[in-house]
Amino acid sequence: MSDLYAIYGASGCGRGVMPLARQQCRALNVPVDRLVFIDDGAGATEVNGHRVMTFAQFVAEPASRRLANIAIADGRVRERLALKCSAHGVNPWTVRAEASQLYDDVVVGEGAIICAYVTLTSNIRIGRHFHANLYSYVEHDCAIGDFVTFAPGVQCNGNVAIGDRAYIGAGAVLRQGKPGQPLRIGEGAVVGMGAVVTKDVPPGVTVVGNPARLMEKGGARG
Ligand code: UDP
Repeated sequence: MSDLYAIYGASGCGRGVMPLARQQCRALNVPVDRLVFIDDGAGATEVNGHRVMTFAQFVAEPASRRLANIAIADGRVRERLALKCSAHGVNPWTVRAEASQLYDDVVVGEGAIICAYVTLTSNIRIGRHFHANLYSYVEHDCAIGDFVTFAPGVQCNGNVAIGDRAYIGAGAVLRQGKPGQPLRIGEGAVVGMGAVVTKDVPPGVTVVGNPARLMEKGGARG
């Protein structure tokens, strides 16, 4: 019996990640019918040439090993689904574009997505289920928590510390911190698209603009 691979989520994020997963499977000689989407609400049986299964169908399909990459931008949803996968023996799977670069001493936790044209430079620690979307970068000496999401084009400069489940919107710029005194983005914070963050962001808040300022909840993701 062969392994079964999945991209969990057949919406925008998942459909964007599937071609990278396919590339990776091809290199491992995994037949294309052993790479599927899991989606509990898609209502389609096929998307972009891949079978779509509910989670229940995925765990019922005969396989020697099951691996899934959770391709859903909301870190809280990823966390919930990661727990569900783990409870059902579904292994986390990292998907990384060939056209991405990791320099020296970079540690990325399980279940990540590293999209095309992403660069992670040197001496970086990143937690589980990180999403680095197209053209994002992480510079030296950053520490990033679990279930953190970078939309496309995030510029995360050196010595930045980001808490679990933070969401950084498209094109946001995070100012460089100092050694031993990083710029901090708190747990669950949201940085709106295009924001220029020059000061620490407290946990759970949303900031927008240049320079980034606190915003009432909602509406800033991009
Ligand atoms: N989804 C799921 N199970 C869950 C939560 C979400 O299968 O418990 C699917 C949902 O049906 C949808 C996708 O995940 O197809 C999330 O899509 P959305 O557009 O919200 O997120 P994005 O793809 O933009 O990250």
